[in-house]
Parts: sequence; C-alpha cells; structure tokens
Amino acid sequence: MLHYAETHFRFPVSRLYRKEATILIDAPFQICPGLPCPVWLIVRKAHRFPVYIEEVYGEWKNAEGQNIPFKLPIQKKFEKPFHFEELNFENPSLSGLWMLKIFVKYKKNKIIERWNYPFLPPKPLMINFLKEEPPKPDGWLAGETHCHSSFTMDSMEFGAAPAVLQKAAKSIGLDFVCITDHSYDLRNETKFQTMKNEIAELNSAGMPLLIPGEEISCGNADEHNVHLLTFRNENYVEGHGDGGRRWWNTDPDLPIQKAIEKSGTFCFAAHPKLQMLLAEKILLKRGHWSYKDLTKNKISGIEFWNGFRGRDFYEGRKLWIKCLLSGHKLLPLGGNDAHGDLNSYTAVKKPFWSLKHNHEHVFGVVRTVLPNTGKIPFSELPENLYITDGPALWFNNFTLHAKSTEDFGIFLSITIFRGKNGFEEAEEMQINNSLSFDFEISLNNSLYVRAECETTMGKFAMTSAIFSPPAV
Ligand SMILES: [Zn+2]
Ligand SMILES: [Zn+2]
Repeated sequence: MLHYAETHFRFPVSRLYRKEATILIDAPFQICPGLPCPVWLIVRKAHRFPVYIEEVYGEWKNAEGQNIPFKLPIQKKFEKPFHFEELNFENPSLSGLWMLKIFVKYKKNKIIERWNYPFLPPKPLMINFLKEEPPKPDGWLAGETHCHSSFTMDSMEFGAAPAVLQKAAKSIGLDFVCITDHSYDLRNETKFQTMKNEIAELNSAGMPLLIPGEEISCGNADEHNVHLLTFRNENYVEGHGDGGRRWWNTDPDLPIQKAIEKSGTFCFAAHPKLQMLLAEKILLKRGHWSYKDLTKNKISGIEFWNGFRGRDFYEGRKLWIKCLLSGHKLLPLGGNDAHGDLNSYTAVKKPFWSLKHNHEHVFGVVRTVLPNTGKIPFSELPENLYITDGPALWFNNFTLHAKSTEDFGIFLSITIFRGKNGFEEAEEMQINNSLSFDFEISLNNSLYVRAECETTMGKFAMTSAIFSPPAV
C-alpha cells in the first residue's frame, strides 16, 4: 500500500516515474469551531529535482454559492528532500462544508491543480467547518491510533511530519495521536530514538499529545507477515519481513508473541483482515490474523476499523466477536492508517502503472475515545472505550449514553448486543429525533454487553464489550 503516493520509484520501469519534485496541497478534513484551517504545500524530493514555486491561488466555494478567491505569492526555491510549508490565507467565516480549489504555479508558468501526480485527475479539498465541537463525554480523550509520519520516507511511500500531524490533530479535535511507523521504515534503534526525541520536543512545546509507537511486522502461526501496533515501547522492535527491501528474504524476524514481549507494552492486532493485492501476498508474504493468533498470544485488542467500513471491517469485527464470545476481553481500536492524507487518500492502484484517490484512510476520521485517568493514553490498558467517526456512544457502568450533533446527524439506530451461549442477541433501542440518549441496560445473564449506533449522515460508533462482574 502506498500512500502520499511516491513517483520517483523507477525500477524496473514505471509509467509513474517523473523527473520532477512531487508537489501537493493538503489540509484537514474538518475544523473545530473557532480554529483556523491550516493548509500545507508539500514538496518532496526537491534535493534531486529543485523547484521554484511562484504562487498558490484558488478559491473557497460552498453550496450556498459563496466564493472567496485568494492569491498567495510564494517566490521561493525548494531544494530539500521534504518541505511542509504552511500557507496562510483567508478562511471562510461560515460553518459547513466548503470546497477548496487550489492551484500551484511553478517553474516557467507551469500550473497544476492540487498535485502533480501523473495520470491522477485533480480533486479539490473538501473541508467541513464544524458548528460544534465533536461530541465526547466530559473528561474523555479522543485519539488517532494508527498513522504514519515522515519517518516513513523511502522510495515507496511517505507520511506527514510529526509537527504537521500535531497541528492537524488540534484542528480536527483530537487529544492524542499515536504515531506508528512501520518497523521496516524505522529500520533500527537509532532512527526510532530520533523519532522519539523529535516527538518529545513537540510535546514539550504544545498539544495535542503525540505518542510514539511502532507498527511491527511479525510472523503469524503460518509464518506470514502480519502487523502489530504498539504504543510507548521503550526500544525499537525489528520486523523487516514484508518491507520489500530484502526481496530475497520475506520471512518474519519475530513471531507475534516474541514481538509483544520485546515491545514491553500493550500490543494490538492491526487491520486483521486487510484486503490486499495478490502481489503483496506472494512477493511480501503478507497474511491475516487468525482466531488462534489473537487468542494464543498476549494481544490486548484489535484495530479492525482501519479508516473505513469495508469488507475488512466486517470480517475483522466478526473475528473480534468470536473472541469475545469465547471470553477473550479484547478491545476494539479505531485508527486510519493514513500516511499524511489529511483530507483524502492517494495511493498506488497498480504498481508502476496507476494511482488512485478515495477517502478510505484519512488522518483522524476514525477515532478511539477513552476515559482520561490522568495518565498518558495506553500507559495502562483502558477498561472501557468506544470507536467512532462521529457520534459519541459510551457505557458508564451499565448506563449507555449516546450523543450526536447537527454536524454528524440524528440517530438512525442504537443497538445493544448481548453475548450469550456462543451467540449475540441484538436489541434495538427506542429512539426519536433527539441528539442525546441514556439507557439503563440489564445484562440478562449474558457474558457481556456492547453497543453500536448509526446516524442519518452515515456516521457510526461502537463500544468495547462490558463483561459481567464475576460471580462472588
Ligand atoms: Zn499495516
Ligand atoms: Zn500502517
């Protein structure tokens, strides 16, 4: 999977290869009330292909027919491997969804819209200026649990600088961000410690909190490479199996349990049922997480909501429920697996041939929300959490609370699931047009209870499973 798509990879032959720096514009997908919208001009590989950018211009547009044009002189030569230049220009003053059409003029009157990716038609940025703060229970923290930074910086893919992620996280209403670059991109202890130091510096200067972590490639029971998320690990954990740099050897470095032990902290299965290309299965020996992998190793939870609700979400959730029904108290995690991708997602569709654009892995869309215990998130295992791309849905003992806002829509359904005798029983709650509900939930002799909800805007949330207290 390639994200902020890389076009300088030439071997063996690539239709996407360009003798030019990659230029693109990115900005967060939503903005909390009262905050400005940061917009970044990103220039990559300018040390090999220096570029003089003359100006950036464009316009904001909304459905009411308003438009705000702007023009920003840049007049600067870019010549470093990575530039994240923040652009400051007028923001709309009205809330709601705005389209940002943006053009970059460079070299001698060369003009591109949004990016210079080959064979990928330009797409405007879509930015939702929220009317209210995203809903969340008082004293809880919302975070991104799976994203990649510019420490992923190889010939295949790259992410956004930690400082950019921190600033974007603030705009979209996150309290923390777990930065989880691949073990095969971090490469060694030195690079991992450099990342941790850069993050520590950013944390001492501002918020939201950045939590350094790692996405470790390790071996499942079939000795295929699967990904394991860990946060706040003291030391680097190696995992080069599916990094594509050791093409003669795609064997995992460590089995799952050894990787967990080496991390010295809590670990979560990343995207357990990720849909992948046949080439990834064969050439990189990538595999899936099985029930056995999840229950025979000391796994704390499963990140089966990995940016969007496609087949991998439903298959991952099914596997999670199977684990719950057999008494394994695994937490659900929601993350996005964005590499930069603050507004939409760009990636390689066919290697060396074509690129794609969609909204499947956008930074901070899916969030994991947990109670603030005064400690850094994931320094202890949360007992209770929910995952969402909009509404809040949480248990306080056996009271279920649901809350949405006008930005995310009224509820279409709120459903309780009780796990009992190897099955889940679903019960629909009675709802009206209200944006807020409280329900007293009885366990009815079930092993656990959990909840899901959906809104009229297609936004979704689900809770972790609340297990019944053990009989005395
Ligand atoms: Zn992964
Ligand atoms: Zn990832």
